[in-house]
Amino acid sequence: MAHCRKRCLSVLLTDDCNLKCKYCYCGEERRKNSINVNFVKCAIDDFRKQGNKLFIRFFGNGEPTLEFEKIKEIYEYAIQHDKEAVFEIQTNGAFNEEIAKWIGEHIDIVWISYDGTTEVNDFYRATFNNKSVSNIVENNIKYLNKKVKELGVRATIGKKNLNKQNEIIDKMKELGVKYIYSDLMFADVNNKLYYEDEINPLEYARKFLEARKYAESNQIYYGSFFTINFDEETNISCRACIPMPHLTVDGYVSCCDMGYADGKLQELIYGKYDERSNRIIYDNDKIKNIQARTVDNLEQCKDCKIKYYCAGGCIGEAINENGTIYSIKEKNCEAIRFLAENLLKEKIPVLHP
Ligand code: SF4
Ligand code: SF4
Ligand code: SF4
Repeated sequence: MAHCRKRCLSVLLTDDCNLKCKYCYCGEERRKNSINVNFVKCAIDDFRKQGNKLFIRFFGNGEPTLEFEKIKEIYEYAIQHDKEAVFEIQTNGAFNEEIAKWIGEHIDIVWISYDGTTEVNDFYRATFNNKSVSNIVENNIKYLNKKVKELGVRATIGKKNLNKQNEIIDKMKELGVKYIYSDLMFADVNNKLYYEDEINPLEYARKFLEARKYAESNQIYYGSFFTINFDEETNISCRACIPMPHLTVDGYVSCCDMGYADGKLQELIYGKYDERSNRIIYDNDKIKNIQARTVDNLEQCKDCKIKYYCAGGCIGEAINENGTIYSIKEKNCEAIRFLAENLLKEKIPVLHP
């Protein structure tokens, strides 16, 4: 399943967070902006009118569950319009029992960010006061794993856990998790961790491959952000190039999780909510520019043997590095090709969050 099959409407509920992860690409400064629910309702109507099956993904440039009441309101609106609607949440897992219970009863797919072992998670993913939340997150993973249709854990790999990927598998086995994806750490280029914690992508790929085999022997699927298109040919790297909507707290429609109107990621923005008329105004030129970001239009991918199993990689990362979506994160290519030599066409059971 190529990753672009994930045709969902992403709601980035807030830019506030209860954690202060060291590599957070949302920046150290926490703001307090929150999504306008009328905007989300408009986007749901448009999404359905465009012929899409309703699939809502709750996410944030912060922690979505901080806007629990809005999640419930959006859920109610969506389910009234489509009883078959599918819901996903990507969360840091640091929430209370009430929220865990509601998620367990209403959400189909849950992805929890957790960096593997308790010790590493405490290092990278603690609160503002450096307080550990690992215990809470582990309990929520265990609880929700028994309740929802699909639960996965997304681990970020930095220097601290590069050589501990087998231990991540052991920990997930202990918690009953069947699906894990790891992503090589990608901080904003302005974050000092971008330089301090940088790992050679090929080194990550080699260690990942070892851990993947170990995971298989434990009946756990361990995927990587680098492998998301390995089992189906595609000329676009992910849903961003369709584009699928990602609604931001400042009323913009972005094609990617990483879109902010005030930053360098402007090229990703293709719509704006107009509060007065209560409608979304789309920019067709921007949409065309995004849709034209196929691997066939990327000079750097021209002669790549696996171009249709990678399709140029993540456009959010490309723009973070080079300032334009018509580019690639070149330093990942060797690692992606190395993994393709070993894993191409192996079945992917769950789509990356
Ligand atoms: S949970 Fe997510 S948004 Fe919050 S600090 Fe960590 S990486 Fe950033
Ligand atoms: S961050 Fe990358 S993979 Fe995620 S939506 Fe954006 S382009 Fe796609
Ligand atoms: S591996 Fe690199 S060159 Fe090949 S398709 Fe992917 S981004 Fe392009």
